[in-house]
Amino acid sequence: AADLARQRVAVLGATGSIGASTLDVLARHPQRFEVVALSAARQVAKMADLCRRFRPRWAVIGAGHGAALRAELNQRGLLDVEVLEGQAALQAVASAAEVDIVMAAIVGAAGLAPCLAAARAGKRLLLANKEALVVGGEVFLRAVREGGATLLPVDSEHSAVFQALPEDASTWSARVDKIVLTASGGPFRTRDPATLADVTPEQACAHPNWVMGRKISVDSATMMNKALEVIEARYLFGLEPRRIEVIVHPQSVVHSMVQFRDGSVVAQLGTPDMRVPIAYGLSWPERIDSGAPALDLTRLAGLTFEAVDPARFPGLRLAWEALEAAPGTPAVLNAANEEAVEAFLAGRLRFDRIVAVTQATMEQCLPGPVGGLDDLLALDRRARAVARHWVQQWAL
Ligand code: NAD
Ligand code: MG
Repeated sequence: AADLARQRVAVLGATGSIGASTLDVLARHPQRFEVVALSAARQVAKMADLCRRFRPRWAVIGAGHGAALRAELNQRGLLDVEVLEGQAALQAVASAAEVDIVMAAIVGAAGLAPCLAAARAGKRLLLANKEALVVGGEVFLRAVREGGATLLPVDSEHSAVFQALPEDASTWSARVDKIVLTASGGPFRTRDPATLADVTPEQACAHPNWVMGRKISVDSATMMNKALEVIEARYLFGLEPRRIEVIVHPQSVVHSMVQFRDGSVVAQLGTPDMRVPIAYGLSWPERIDSGAPALDLTRLAGLTFEAVDPARFPGLRLAWEALEAAPGTPAVLNAANEEAVEAFLAGRLRFDRIVAVTQATMEQCLPGPVGGLDDLLALDRRARAVARHWVQQWAL
C-alpha cells in the first residue's frame, strides 16, 4: 500500500553534482520516492551505473548517444530501461503522466525547454537549473501559473529565503523589506585583483566551501553566479530588484536572510550541503532526513560578513542592469556568460574577460519582443553569436 503513494521522480541532469546529491537523498527514502527517469548529456557509462542502481523506466541521453547507452545496458542485462535521446525526449519525460516531481539539474539554458514542459504539465518542479529561470523569466512564470505547477527553489540561497518567508505569499511584499543573499566570495575573495588575469580553470574551480560542476564553479569565482541568483530571486519571489541585496559571508553557513518591515531579520543556517535544500524541495511542506551532518555552532570559528567589493566583482551589478533593461536582457546576460565561461574553461579567454564579454554583449545585443520559448531561444542564439565575436576579439 505504501508503494501506491510513492512519488515518481524524474532527475534531469542525473550525472551532475546536483543529480548525485538528489539521488543520494532519494535513495534514503525508498518508501517515499521512486526514480522513474534519469537524464544526462553524454556520460554513457555513468548513466548505465545509475540505471543499474535506480532501475528507472526511462533513461534519456543526449542526441547521438542512444545506441551506445542501449548497448551498455544490454550488456549489463538491464533490458527494462527504455533509452530515449535528444531534446524532445527530455521534454516528454519532464511532462509525462507517470512523473510527479521533476528535478531540474541540467546546467545552462539547455534546461529551459524541459523546465517549461514540466511547468505546463503541472509538475512539482525543483529548480536547481537557475539559468532556465533567468532566461525564461516571465515566460517561465506564466507556464508555472497556467500549468498549475509548484515551483520550488533548490539553490541554497533561494531555499533559505523560501524557508524564511511567511507562508502566506500574498502578503509578502507588504511585510518584507528586503532579501539579503549571501555569497561566499569564491576562491578569489582575497586574491590580489591585479593577478586575476592569470587565473587558470583549475584555480577557478577550486571552491573553498562547495564541490560543484565546473560552470557554476567559475560563476562563483566571478560572482556571476550571484548575479544569476539576484535575477532568480526576483522571479521566484516577485520583489523589486532594488529590494534584493548581496553580502559576502565566507563561511557559507547563513544561506540567506529576509529582513522584514519592523527590522527583524530571519536567516536560514546549515552546513554547506546541497542535500538540505534538495530534501526540502522534495518533502515540502514536510521535512525528511537529508543525510547532511547537523550544524555544530560551537565548532565554528565564527561567522563573518563583508560588503561586496565592486572592483573585484564587476559582474554583480549586471544583474540589476539586466532587470531594469528591456525584457529578455537577462537571457542575453546568461547566454554571453555561458559562452565566455566555456571559452575560459577551454583556455581561450582570460578569466577577467568573462565579465567583459558579458557586459559588451549586453550593450550590443538588444532584445526584441519576447512572447514565448521560440523568441527566447532565438535571442539566446543571437546573444551567443555576439558573445563569440567578443571572445574571438580577446582570444588568447
Ligand atoms: P554539473 O555540470 O555537475 O551537471 C550538469 C548535468 O546536466 C549533467 O548531468 C550533464 O550531463 C547535464 N547536461 C549538461 N549539459 C546538458 C545539455 N546541453 N543537455 C542536457 N543535459 C545536459 O552541474 P551542477 O553543478 O550539478 O549544476 C546543475 C545546475 O544546478 C546548474 O544550473 C547550477 O547552477 C545549479 N546549482 C548547482 C549547485 C551545486 O552545488 N552544484 C548549487 C546550486 C545550483
Ligand atoms: Mg546558490
